[in-house]
Amino acid sequence: MENSLKNYWGKQFIETKNLATQEVINPATEEVIAHVPLSTNDEVNLAVKTAKEAFTSWKNTPTIDRIQPLFELKAKLEQNAHEISKIIVAENGKTMKEAQGDLLRGIQMVEVATSMPTLIMGDCQNQIAKGIDSNFYHRSLGVFAGITPFNFPAMVPFWFWPFAVASGNSYILKPSERVPLTSQYIFELIDQCDFPKGVINMVHGGKDVVESLCQHPDIAGVNFVGSTPVAKLVYDMAHKGYKRVQALGGAKNYMVITADADFNQSVKAMVDSCYGCAGERCLAGSVLVAVGDQAYTKLKERVLEEIGKVKVGNGIDPNTTLGPVISSQAKERIIQDIQKAVDEGATLLIDGRKNIQQDKGYFLNPTVIENVTMGMEFAHKEIFGPVIGLMKVDSLDEAIKNINSLEYANTTSLFTNNGSTMQKFVNEIDPSMVGINLGVPAPMAFFSFGGSKASFFGDIKAHGPSSVEFFTQRQSIMTRWYSAGKEEIINPQWGK
Ligand code: NAD
Repeated sequence: MENSLKNYWGKQFIETKNLATQEVINPATEEVIAHVPLSTNDEVNLAVKTAKEAFTSWKNTPTIDRIQPLFELKAKLEQNAHEISKIIVAENGKTMKEAQGDLLRGIQMVEVATSMPTLIMGDCQNQIAKGIDSNFYHRSLGVFAGITPFNFPAMVPFWFWPFAVASGNSYILKPSERVPLTSQYIFELIDQCDFPKGVINMVHGGKDVVESLCQHPDIAGVNFVGSTPVAKLVYDMAHKGYKRVQALGGAKNYMVITADADFNQSVKAMVDSCYGCAGERCLAGSVLVAVGDQAYTKLKERVLEEIGKVKVGNGIDPNTTLGPVISSQAKERIIQDIQKAVDEGATLLIDGRKNIQQDKGYFLNPTVIENVTMGMEFAHKEIFGPVIGLMKVDSLDEAIKNINSLEYANTTSLFTNNGSTMQKFVNEIDPSMVGINLGVPAPMAFFSFGGSKASFFGDIKAHGPSSVEFFTQRQSIMTRWYSAGKEEIINPQWGK
C-alpha cells in the first residue's frame, strides 16, 4: 500500500509544491505505506489566507447552524470506524481495540462540541446601576492552528478543532508527520460534510510548518500536544507573537499502591496502564510505587503474573495486547533507557529486549525493573515504551514527596481502600489529573484535560468547557436606556 497525501484548504485537496517528503512507516512491518509532503511557508500562507477569509462570515453564523456539520461528521466517523481504526493500527502500531478507543474518544469530542449553543452562553444582569444593564458574550477570535503528536492520531486533533469551529473560529490542523493517514482519511469525511470553504483546513509537514504557523501574524492562537522540549518552543514562539497558546507536553506518571488495596484488580489496571498502547500514552503508568514491604511483595508478585498474559504482535491480530513502538529510533532509545537504569543500580526482573519473536517491526517485549530509586535517570525521564519500574517507599508521605519532586506533573494514580489516604493524596499531590483505583484517569470530553508543571504550558486546559474560554474572548456590553430612569450613584452616602 502506497499513498500520496494532500493538503486541504478552501474545501479542496491540494498537492504540495514541495518535492520533499517523509516516509510513513508501518511500525509492525517496517513497510513504507505513504509519503507525507513537507509543506512550505507559502503553502501555510495560502491556508491561513483561506481560513481568515472564511472567518469573516463564519463568526456571524448562528451557533446552532455551526454545529450542524459536526452532526454529519459524527455519523460518518461512526460509519467508517472500522476503516479508520485499521489505518491507525497500520501507521501507529496500536492494537485494533486501542485504535477503536482512540477514535471513540475523538468522536466523543465531536459530540460534546455540538453542545456549543449551551457551552458558549454568556451572562447578564439588569440594573447594574439605575437604568443600566450589563451582559457579556463569548466572541470568536479568528484562525487557530493545531499541532498534534503521533500517539493518538484520531483523538488528539479532535481535542481542539471541533470546539474551535463550533465557537465560530476557523482552523488549520498540522497532524503528526509520522501518522498523517488517519487525518487524511478523516478530512475526506470532513470534505463530505457541510463545513463552509476554509473553516477547517489541514497542512501536512514538520518543524517548518510548525514554525510558520506559530509565527504567522494572522493566527490568533495555537494548540500543541507533544514532547516537552517542543511544547516549550511552541509556547515561546506563539507567545512572542502575542497569540493564545496551550502546549501540552510529556509526562512521567507514578502509580502508588497501599497494603489495603484490592491487589487483584488494582495491579491489572496498573499493568494495563503501563503496557497499553505500548506505553506510548501521556497517561501511561511508568513507576509503580508500593507503600511498605507487604505491599511491595504483593505488587511484584502480581505484576509478574500479569506480564504472563501479555501477547506481543502486530495490532491487526485480534490476540495481540502489545503492539510495536513507533519507530526504530524509539525502540533504540527505550533499549538504552533500560540499560541506563541497570547501570545505575536497578535490577532487571524481565528483560523485554530479549526473545522478540518478530524479525521485522519495532517490537519490544514487556520489561520490568525493580529497585528504582529517585537518584536514577529512570525515575525522572519519560520512557514512552513498555517498561515498568518498581519502587518501594516507607510511607505515603515519601511517595507524595517523590512524585512532587518530578519535573512532569501530568497524572498520577493511587490504589487504596482507605478514604482518608485518598483525601491526603489528592490534597497534596502536584499532577492535575488524578486516578483513584484507576489506571488511565483521562477526563472525558465534557470535562477539561491537561497536566501541570512541565506537562502543560498555558493557562486554560484543553477540551470541554475550558475550550470556550480558550477559543473566545469575553465581550462585555453595558447598555443604558434613558427611558428606564436616571442613573444614580451606586453608594448614595458618597454623594452626600
Ligand atoms: P513531538 O514533540 O516529537 O511532536 C509533536 C508535534 O511537534 C508534531 O506535529 C511534530 O511535527 C512537531 N515537532 C516535532 N519537533 C519539532 C520541532 N523541533 N519544532 C517544531 N515542531 C516540532 O511529540 P511526539 O513524539 O509526536 O509525541 C509524543 C509526546 O507527546 C510524548 O512526550 C507525550 O507525552 C506527549 N503527549 C502529551 C499529551 C498530553 O496530553 N500532555 C498527549 C499526547 C502526547
